[in-house]
Parts: sequence; structure tokens; C-alpha cells
Amino acid sequence: MTPRQRFEAALERDTPDRVPVFLRDLTLGLDVLDVPTPRVCAGRFDAELSSRAVVATQRHLDHDAVVGSIQFCGLETEMLGGRLRFPERGIPTIERPPFIAPEDVDRAELPDPLTDEPMANVVRAHEITSRRIGKEVAVLGNIEGAVTKAGLLRGLEAFLMDLLTDRGLAEKSIEFAARLGEDLAGALASHGADCALFVAAASDNPDLIGPDDFRRYSLPGLRRMVRVAEQHGLPTIFHPHGIFTDTQFSSLVPGSIEQGIAGFQFAEGNDLALAKREWGGETCVLGGVDAFTTLLLGPEERIAAETRRCLEDCGTSGYVMMCSCSLHRGIPLGNVRTMVDACHRWSDGVL
Ligand SMILES: [Zn+2]
Repeated sequence: MTPRQRFEAALERDTPDRVPVFLRDLTLGLDVLDVPTPRVCAGRFDAELSSRAVVATQRHLDHDAVVGSIQFCGLETEMLGGRLRFPERGIPTIERPPFIAPEDVDRAELPDPLTDEPMANVVRAHEITSRRIGKEVAVLGNIEGAVTKAGLLRGLEAFLMDLLTDRGLAEKSIEFAARLGEDLAGALASHGADCALFVAAASDNPDLIGPDDFRRYSLPGLRRMVRVAEQHGLPTIFHPHGIFTDTQFSSLVPGSIEQGIAGFQFAEGNDLALAKREWGGETCVLGGVDAFTTLLLGPEERIAAETRRCLEDCGTSGYVMMCSCSLHRGIPLGNVRTMVDACHRWSDGVL
């Protein structure tokens, strides 16, 4: 099987020849090429170099599925009047959110992801990546959930405060974020991200917004992304943060599956064995080694042991090995390689 076929089979809950690995390596490739962050991410965004980093990382680490471009949270910040900071060897961060004043939400105009930079160049990077490796390797588009994006646009603390004190304003931010997400999802799906759409939703977290607002905003927001993906014949993977294997939030998983997703990535702290047992009949389970402890700190033996435990918990069908979140530069490449190798060895019956 090709890596792409392997990934597609797992997402359809079939049994591929070995468990596929998807690293969701958002800025990790900058370490592989050893380039400063601003060189790719600042200003107009360098589509060519971004794609080169993604391809070089896949060649180096031998994973089955990639996000088609280097990416970071708040990509559209400067297009909408906010400010980003680009550390030389770090992850870009939002210095001033674009909707810092409530009236900014009303003033904002939706960018066109196919013509407005830097977004257009991120889309173009997916196209270049797909042309280079897309026949063999699964290329995905990574977009943010509506609540998560609203938190980035408004600033998370301000947004959470809006939810408590000015719901109308919060809802305007969510609506803007959802439209932005729909437009970007459509652009990516028709320009290289032709395997699946991944909805990254760190602040669509019931611990943060409560289960009621998760149902009220996160799930309808997800449904809108699924609809765009469906229009392009693509499956959707959902990755909200939170402990969904706890009884207080577990009913939100079937609620998410009902929106039409093909896969659910569980973040750190979830019980993967329980997730597979409860929901593996209806959705592909994604997740694995804790990114912020095990994968960052090692050592190798611990990474291999945790990889093996995840594989034993989830088995060979309908499971995509990931780590618990996304991968950014600064995570030791050798540690990631250890995880991928351990997954291969387990599938070959030698771990
Ligand atoms: Zn995450």
C-alpha cells in the first residue's frame, strides 16, 4: 500500500497493511530545513519554501499523511489588522489580536483565501506539496474550529469574557470565524488538500466553554466545515481539546460523530482504549503519545513503550497513530523518528 492508501483505509475503518502515522507537523519542518521562522512565515508567506519543508520532513520521518503547508495559529491576524510576532527559531504568536476592540468585529471584512496574502500563499503551498508527493502521501488541510478561531481573533480571554457578559458579540466573532473557516476549507480542498480536512479545535474545549456552549457553538461550527468538505468529496477529522473519555463529556463524542466526521483525534489525557471500545465502530480514532511530556522529553525507551501501548489499545483497524496534539519546531526530531519507527516495528510484529 502507498502511505496515502494506508491513511485512507484507516480513516474508512478498514485494516491497512500497517498502522498509518499522521504527525500534523505544523512548523516542525522548519527545523528539518533549519530555516528561521520569519523566513517562511513572516510577510507574504513563502509557499515554495513552506512546501519544501513539508516534503523534506516527510522524506526524513517517513510518515503517511501531512498537512500541505507549514502552518501556525492566527495566520490571518495581520490581514485583519492585528500583529504577529515571529521568533527566529520559535512558533509565531499573536501579539495583538485583530478584534481587540468590540467594534473591530463589525468592521472586519472576510479575506479571499485565493488572492489575499499570506493566506493565498499557504493555499498555494498545499498545491505545490500535492503536486510533489500527493499521489503517494495523504495531503490534508488544517483549519481551526469556529470557537477556537473566534478565540484567536478576539484574544481568548476577551472571547471567554464575551461569552459571559456579551453573548451577541461572542456570537458575531464565532460567525465571522466560521465563515473564514468555510472559505479556507473550500480553497484548500480544491487546491491540493485532497485527502481530508482536519478541524483543529483547541478552545472548542468543554472544560473551557462548558458542554452547553460546546453543543451550541462547536458542533454547528463543525457541521459547517463538514458540509464544505463533503462538497469536495472529502472526509473530516475533528480534534477538540478536553477529556472526552470522562463521563461528564463523553456524550459530546456521539454528538460530534453525528455531524458527519470520519475521525476524532483525542488530545492528551484521554483513555484511547476506552475511546476505541466506545466509538471505534462509528469513527476512526486518532491520537497517541503525549506531545508535551513523552515526545518532548523522551527518552527513547519511554517513547517506544508509550507508542506500543497506544497501538495495543487501538489495534490495527480504524486507527491513525498521531501524537496527542500537533507538532511544532523545538520537538526533537530524533524523538519523533523513534515514535514513527516504533509504530512501524509494532506493525511488523517486532516490537
Ligand atoms: Zn491539539
